Amino acid sequence: MKLEQLQKYAETVIKIGVNLQQGEKLVIKSPIETAEFARTLATFAFEAGAGDVIIDWKDELYSKIRYQKAPKDVFDSFPQWKKDFHMQLAEDGAAFISIAANDPELMKDVNPDVLMRHQKTINTALKEYRDRLMGNKNAWNVIAFPTKSWAKKVFPTLTEEKAVEKLGDAIITSVRADLSDPVAAWETHKRNLKERMDFMNHHQFKKLHFQNKLGTDLTLELPEGHLWTAGAEVTQDGIDFIANMPTEEVFTLPHRDGANGRVVSSKPLPYNGNLIEDFSLTFQNGEVIDFSAAKGYETLKGLLETDEGSLRLGEVALVPHDSPISNSGILFFNTLFDENASCHLALGKAYPVCLKDGNKMTPEELASAGVNESLVHEDFMIGTSDMNIVGIRKDGKEISIFKDGNFIDTKL
Ligand code: ZN
Ligand code: ZN
Repeated sequence: MKLEQLQKYAETVIKIGVNLQQGEKLVIKSPIETAEFARTLATFAFEAGAGDVIIDWKDELYSKIRYQKAPKDVFDSFPQWKKDFHMQLAEDGAAFISIAANDPELMKDVNPDVLMRHQKTINTALKEYRDRLMGNKNAWNVIAFPTKSWAKKVFPTLTEEKAVEKLGDAIITSVRADLSDPVAAWETHKRNLKERMDFMNHHQFKKLHFQNKLGTDLTLELPEGHLWTAGAEVTQDGIDFIANMPTEEVFTLPHRDGANGRVVSSKPLPYNGNLIEDFSLTFQNGEVIDFSAAKGYETLKGLLETDEGSLRLGEVALVPHDSPISNSGILFFNTLFDENASCHLALGKAYPVCLKDGNKMTPEELASAGVNESLVHEDFMIGTSDMNIVGIRKDGKEISIFKDGNFIDTKL
C-alpha cells in the first residue's frame, strides 16, 4: 500500500472508527505482518491525543506450530496476566482496534479438536471483556489489512505482489479512504444507512420471512422492543464509533426461540483457520436440529457444539445485493467483508444493545426477553440476488422488504 493511502486509512480509523478521545488509551491487536500499518495507526493515535497506545502482536504461523507441537493440555488454560491485560485496559476506558488479516485456511491440517478446545478456553477466559465490547462499554473497531497469504487466497491467479496490491485497493475503497474527504463520506454513508434503520424500527416487525431458490425458507421472530442498528454505535459515555469498517448492514437480534425453517449458506464461512462451505441449518423453535456441509463439516459441528447458545441465533442483518462490496464481485474469505456483501445471520450471542434498555438488564432479564447468550458470535452469509424478505407486523399486515436481493423502498 502506498504511504499516502496507508496514512489516510489510519487517520480514518482513528477519527471515525474508534473516534479516539483526548487522553484515551488505545489497544491495537495486530498480526506481525501488518506491523507497518499498526505503527501508523499508533502515530495518528498519539497525534489525536492518545493517553497511550499498546500493540498486542499476533503471529498465526507460530500459533499453528504451537497447535501442532505443544502438549495438548496447554490449550485448556489461559494465563491470568492476559486476562488482566484485557480487563484492566477495558475498565480504564481504552478503545480497542483489531486488524483482521488471517489466512482463511491456515489451520486446515491442524486437529480440529485442539482448535475447538483452545477457542473455547479463550472465549471463556475473555467472556467478561467481550461482553463489555458487545455491550458498547468501550469503543471498538475491526478493520482489515492485506497480507500475502490472505491476498493469494482471494486472487489465486495473480502474483503475490499483485494480489496484495489488488486486495489493498479493495479494502481502501470499501472504507472510503480513497476519497478526498473520508470523514464527510462516512457522515453521508451513516445517513443513508439510517434511513433503512428507521424504516425497520418504524414497523417493529413481529416476524421476518426469508426465501430464495438456494433453499432458504426461514421465519424469524423478533423480540418485543428490538432495535435495528446501523453505521455508528454509541458508547455508554456517548461517543460515536464504527465497530466494523467497512459496514453496510442494518441489524438486530432475532428471538432466541423464534427461528423456524431452513437456511442455506451463500458464501464460505472462515472459522478457526478453516472454511465451512455449502452448508445448511434447519431450525425448530430457535434451535438447530439438523445441519449439513459439503466442506468443513467437523468445523461447523465444533462451532455448533460450543454451548447451548451456539445452536441458536444472535443476529439478523440486511445487506442489499446491490451494494459496493457485493458489486465488487470479490469473495474475500473474511467475515468482515463478506458479511457486508450479503444478508447474514449469526450463530451465538446477541448484542444486548439491539434491545431497548438491553444494556441495563441482568443476564436473566435478557434471557427472558429472548436475547441469546453464548461464548461465540459467528456471522454466516445467506444473501443472494433472488432473496425475498417479507415482514409481518404485529397487526398482521405483511410488508415486502426485499425483492430480488434488494430493499424495495425504505422511505417512510
Ligand atoms: Zn453483522
Ligand atoms: Zn455479527
